[in-house]
Amino acid sequence: MNVLISGASVAGPALAHWLRRCGHDVTLVERAGRLRDGGYAVDFRGEALDVLDRMGLLDEVRAHDTAMGDASLLDEDGRAYATLPAVIFAGDLEILKGDLTRILYEATRHDVEYVFGDSIASLEQYDSGVRVTFERGRPRTFDLVVGADGLHSRTRELAFGPAQRYLRHLGIYTAVFSLDNYLGLRNTGQLYSVPGLAANVFAARGGTEARAALHFASGPLEYDRRDTAEQRRIVAGRFAGQGWEVPRLLREMEQADEFHFDANAQVEMGSWAEGRVVLLGDAGYCAAPTSGRGTSQALIGAYVLARELALAPGDHSAAFAAYERRMRGYVREHQRAGREGAEVFFMGSPTQEAIDALAAGAARLPRTEAVRLPDFPGAAVCG
Ligand SMILES: Cc1cc2nc3c(=O)[nH]c(=O)nc-3n(C[C@H](O)[C@H](O)[C@H](O)COP(=O)(O)OP(=O)(O)OC[C@H]3O[C@@H](n4cnc5c(N)ncnc54)[C@H](O)[C@@H]3O)c2cc1C
Repeated sequence: MNVLISGASVAGPALAHWLRRCGHDVTLVERAGRLRDGGYAVDFRGEALDVLDRMGLLDEVRAHDTAMGDASLLDEDGRAYATLPAVIFAGDLEILKGDLTRILYEATRHDVEYVFGDSIASLEQYDSGVRVTFERGRPRTFDLVVGADGLHSRTRELAFGPAQRYLRHLGIYTAVFSLDNYLGLRNTGQLYSVPGLAANVFAARGGTEARAALHFASGPLEYDRRDTAEQRRIVAGRFAGQGWEVPRLLREMEQADEFHFDANAQVEMGSWAEGRVVLLGDAGYCAAPTSGRGTSQALIGAYVLARELALAPGDHSAAFAAYERRMRGYVREHQRAGREGAEVFFMGSPTQEAIDALAAGAARLPRTEAVRLPDFPGAAVCG
C-alpha cells in the first residue's frame, strides 16, 4: 500500500518503521521545517520497551537515557523540604523527546519519504483511495492516511470535525523551554510549587543543558497557538511576583529558542477511523502529560496498527477495528491516570512519608494487562 502519515514525532516514524517492514510505501509529512529534535524529557513504561526492542532500537534509546536521579521539592522560599524519587517521574527509562525523534528518524529515513515544512490541506475519500492536497506540495492519492499529528491534529479536524468536540481540558497549562544549566544540576531537578503554580528545572544532556517547565492552573484560554510571544506573556503574567529562581526563569524563557506551550488535555473519540483515514497516538487518544504514558501509547499504537494491517491484507476496515479493540482498554487506563495526575498536580506540599509511599507503589506498578503484545507477523504474512 501507499500510506501517508501526517506528523513526524514519535507515533508517525514508529508506524513508518513497521509499515516498511511489511513492504508498504510510506510518505511522512511534517509541518515543522526540520526535525523537531529539542524538547522535554519523556519516559517509557512497560510494553513500550518491548516495542523498542522489537524495532532494534532499545540499546540506542538506553544510550540516551537521561539517567535521572532523585529530585528536590522546594517550598515557596526555595528551601528543599522533600526528595522526589526518580521512579515517580522518570518511568522505566527516560529520554529527551528530541533524541527519541532523531533515533526514529535515522532508523527510517533511508526508505521512507520525509516531507518537512508541509501539511495536509484537504482530504477527499473515494472507494479506492484518499485524494490529498497539501499546503505546499502537489496533490496526491494514497491508499490510507494516518493522522499522527498530535493533540491539535489537522487530520482529525479534516476527517472527524473540530477539536472542541474531542478535547477534554484538565485545567493545567505548561510551558517548557531550554536554558543553560546555570543551577549546575547533575542528573537531578528542582521543583518549586505554590498553590496553582509549579516551576521545575531539570538537567539535560549530561548537565550541559537544562530544561525548565512552568505550569499553572487555569480553565481553557483563548490565544493564538502560533504566537509564541503572546504565550510567553501569558506565562510571565501568571508567574509575576513569584520567588525562588522564577524571575530568572522568566528572563530565560523570553530568550529561549526552543519554547513549547500547551494545555494539558485529553482526546476522547468514539472511533479512531473514518473510511481510509485513521488516527494514531495523541491525535486520537492523547492521555495528557500528567499520565506520563503518551510516548508509550504512541509506540504501542503504531505497533498494533501496523500488525493489524499486516494480518488483514486488503481489508483496512477490519484492521482498524482490530486496532481499536486492542488499544481501547489500554488507552482508557492511561487516560484515567492522566486525569488522576491532573487532580493532584497542585495539591500543596506532600510529606516525605507520603512521597515514599507513592514511590513504593510506582516501583510495584504492574505492567498494564490491557494490551499484551502479540508477535509481529513474519515474512510469510507480511511482505
Ligand atoms: C510537557 C510535556 C511533558 C511530557 N512528558 C511525558 C512523559 O514524561 N512521558 C510520556 O510518555 N509522555 C510525555 N508527554 C507526552 C508525549 O510527548 C506525547 O504523548 C507523545 O509525544 C505523542 O506522540 P505523537 O507522535 O502522537 O504526537 P506528537 O509528539 O505531539 O507529534 C505530533 C507531530 O505532528 C506534527 N504536526 C502537527 N500538526 C501537523 C500538521 N498539520 N501537518 C503535519 N505535521 C503536523 C508536529 O509538529 C509533531 O511533530 C509529555 C508531553 C508534554 C507536552
